[in-house]
Amino acid sequence: MVRLARLSGGGTILHSVYSGSGDHDGRADDSGGEPARAAAPRPESVNGAARVAYVDARALVGCRHRLHLDATHPERLSGVSEDAGVKQRREAAAAHRTKVRDTLVAADPQHWVVIDPDQPASARAEATLRACVEGVQRIWGAVLPQEADTGRRGGCEILLRDPDRGGYIPIIVVNHKVTDPRQPDPADFHPTTSDLFHWDPRPDRHVRIRTQPRDQQRLAHLYRMLQRHGLAGPALVGGAIGYHFDRILVHDLAPVLDEYDRRYADRIAVVRGELPTVPSKVPECRQCPWWSRAPQSGDGTEPSAPSCEGWLAAHRDISLVAPGSRAELLRRHGVQTIDDLAEWTGEEPEDWQYEPFGETVVTARAWISGAPLVRRVEQVRVQRADVEVDVDLESYQEHGAYLWGTLLDGVYRPFLTWDPLPTSDEARSFAEFWTWLMRIRAEATAAGRTFAAYCYSRTAEDKWLYESARRFAGMPDVPTEAEVRAFVDGPEWVDMFQAVSEQFICPNGKGLKKIAPVAGFGWRDPEAGGEASMSWYRLAVGYDAAPDMSQRTRLLEYNEDDVRATQVLREWMSPLVPGPHSADAEVPAMTEFREPNPVRRNICT
Ligand code: SF4
Repeated sequence: MVRLARLSGGGTILHSVYSGSGDHDGRADDSGGEPARAAAPRPESVNGAARVAYVDARALVGCRHRLHLDATHPERLSGVSEDAGVKQRREAAAAHRTKVRDTLVAADPQHWVVIDPDQPASARAEATLRACVEGVQRIWGAVLPQEADTGRRGGCEILLRDPDRGGYIPIIVVNHKVTDPRQPDPADFHPTTSDLFHWDPRPDRHVRIRTQPRDQQRLAHLYRMLQRHGLAGPALVGGAIGYHFDRILVHDLAPVLDEYDRRYADRIAVVRGELPTVPSKVPECRQCPWWSRAPQSGDGTEPSAPSCEGWLAAHRDISLVAPGSRAELLRRHGVQTIDDLAEWTGEEPEDWQYEPFGETVVTARAWISGAPLVRRVEQVRVQRADVEVDVDLESYQEHGAYLWGTLLDGVYRPFLTWDPLPTSDEARSFAEFWTWLMRIRAEATAAGRTFAAYCYSRTAEDKWLYESARRFAGMPDVPTEAEVRAFVDGPEWVDMFQAVSEQFICPNGKGLKKIAPVAGFGWRDPEAGGEASMSWYRLAVGYDAAPDMSQRTRLLEYNEDDVRATQVLREWMSPLVPGPHSADAEVPAMTEFREPNPVRRNICT
């Protein structure tokens, strides 16, 4: 069927079926980082009898236990509201795909077929195969038929007919960076990229690859699905269009397929209940509903197992103090529990590649004793100054930094714009912040006084200082990149995260929300957090409705509390007048954890 459809860019194009944002069932990246839950396998009946499970490429990454729980207890996820940060990233990814689609299709509409996203998956798969058989050059929103025997399902934003070797090349559109710019140089290896509008893969001296294994796994998944229908191109390549939408990064899939096949066999076996899984703490746990949610028995009345948090605590699992790959390594050495690690007395494992192993052992001992921090140093110190400013910024996705909050002599001063990002008014607020900060510094210097500005984890602040200088270059009072560099590379810019990391072992994490309470600080808003602030911002500026003034207040209080938390923390770590309420006095030293089972003091006691 051929019909006209309207694209979001406003134009109309001729195509057989219209697409929105591509494949809803087979995107590894569309969720913007949410791995397993969005990949929930869907048991379906075959001929009304046997039930089979399907998984898409998202099942290839992330927590295996989550995959198992999503498959076996989907009813426990009904009513679970999507994590705000995940939702934001998913929406941003959808907008990105729409922009890519509109731009590419509008440039050459007669060579595109856009699959209608509003049709059922089976109809989209039929339309995709039909377009392939007809030899269509470019297909947007492709869906491949789900495979009852293998369990594969999936699709990709673009199927591109290989003009030279035949077959179709899968190209995914993702909302993360797939390359970084670099100065052209005579390196041994140059990634292969292609022009967006004309398939022309060739070595690219201007970029380096950002390694994204999930993209490669997804492309391998699509390659296998194309292969089943005799549609896979002999070139054995796939492509990725990333956040910058400036080129297609070409992936060679030959070296990826073996690992993909192994991984897929494991994951589908987990979904089918053929392989057991147990929890193990990984970064993904922070946004996973199963962390605090228990699976239920068949009749739904009793928890059939504890939540992951409960299970890990009950088992005193090693991953609680050595998460992720550390736990896997330690288990290979026979360390299953925190107690096993706390009793470790020999040499460190020969394949340990993380922080000093002795610190990991101390972390285990601190966890057992309940100490929230352990001092690495004899005396905790933070650079202090006569004039001290605490700084914290709030940004919204990659759109910009809308709020620079400062604290000086107990007075909170926000520099902000409530024009919805992106907005040129951000240049005004950034320039006012920078001008004010530099004035305070200059006045201190003129008066013969020392100056320091503090942030917690400079990665974000530095990034937005540089990006703001770059984006708003030449506008009134906006500093140059060189001026920003001179300041952030200088001695007056102090990163409290670095001070904490260097001087403490933190069994419960190093985030400001974990550390500042140990120093005695509490946030006014119990929901305060970076992810939550994204939702508040949308409401505050009125992206979806009239601006909600209460959310503006909430954001300002959240930002003010963050700078006050930084101040409380640094004064506790390095008080001008020594006293009993200080890190030196309250935090036990590493030496107190040298032995597996000494009696220790801690802040709680
Ligand atoms: S809470 Fe962590 S261990 Fe449990 S299912 Fe989720 S990601 Fe996996």
